[in-house]
Amino acid sequence: MRIETTIATTRRARLALPGPVGFVPTMGYLHAGHLSLVRAARRANASVVASLFVNPTQFGPSEDLATYPRDVPRDLSLFESEGVDLVFAPTVEEMYPAGFTTFVELEKLSSRLEGAHRSGHFRGVATVVAKLFSIVQPDRAYFGQKDAQQSIVVRRLTADLNLPVEVVVCPTVREPDGLALSSRNVYLKSDERQAATVLSRALFAARERFLAGERDAEALRQLVRDTIAAEPLVRLQYVSVTDGETLDELDAVERPGLLSLAAFVGRTRLIDNVRLED
Ligand code: AMP
Repeated sequence: MRIETTIATTRRARLALPGPVGFVPTMGYLHAGHLSLVRAARRANASVVASLFVNPTQFGPSEDLATYPRDVPRDLSLFESEGVDLVFAPTVEEMYPAGFTTFVELEKLSSRLEGAHRSGHFRGVATVVAKLFSIVQPDRAYFGQKDAQQSIVVRRLTADLNLPVEVVVCPTVREPDGLALSSRNVYLKSDERQAATVLSRALFAARERFLAGERDAEALRQLVRDTIAAEPLVRLQYVSVTDGETLDELDAVERPGLLSLAAFVGRTRLIDNVRLED
C-alpha cells in the first residue's frame, strides 16, 4: 500500500494503478462503516484508493474540528489489511494553500436538513469532494447512506459538473443495538451511549408504521418526536420526512422518502436516517 501526502505524487501513483479505480473518501478514525465502503470498492474495482483528510471547510466555527478524533497509524493499518492500494493523506495546506478562493455551492439541496443547521457544511463537502475527484480521478466513488444528504449532494454535483465518476451509496452499518456507527460515537459517555439507541429505535418504529400503511408525514415525524422525548439525555434537533432525491419536505409519502434526524446526546451531535419505501 502506498501512502502519499502530496497531490503531485498521488496523481502519479494513481496513473500507475490498473483500472477501474474505486475511491473511498474518509475523515479517518475508521470503523466498520468505513470498511464496508472499502470492501464494496475492493469487490468491484481493480484498484482501491482511500483518502484520509479531516476537511476544515465543512466544519462550522462552533463545531468539533479541533477535537475530531484522529488515529492515523491505526487507520493506515486498517486500510492496509482491507487491501487498499493507495492512501491520499494530505495536510490542510496541501489542500487549501494560501490564495485558495474557489468553492462549489449547490442551490437548494445544501440548505435543507443538515444544511439548515450547519451553515456552510455542504459548501465545504462539495468543494473537497470535487477536489478529491479531480486529484484521484476515480471510476467509482463510495459513500455511506448514514450521511444520506451528503450522498445526494455528491450525486448532484457529479452530474452537474459532468464528472466521470459513478457514485455508489452503501447501506448504513450499525451496532448490534441499532446505533449507527460514527467516528463521533467515541465522544459518548456510557449512559449517553445507552441513551443514543433511542435514535434508531425511533426511526425503525416510524419505518414500521410506514410499512404498515401510514403515509402521513407528520404522523411519522410525531412518532419520532414522542419516542425521543421519552429519553431525557437526548435532545432532538430536527426530524424530517422528505423526498428521497430532492429533499423537499413531504406532507404525504407517496414516492420514495427519507426520514432523517439530528439530535444531541449530551453534547454530541449525531445524525441518522432510514429510507421510506416499499
Ligand atoms: P466520514 O469519515 O465521517 O467523513 O465518513 C466517510 C464515509 O463513510 C462517508 O461516505 C460516510 O457516509 C461513510 N460512513 C460513515 N458512517 C457510516 C456507517 N455507519 N455506515 C456506512 N457508511 C458510513
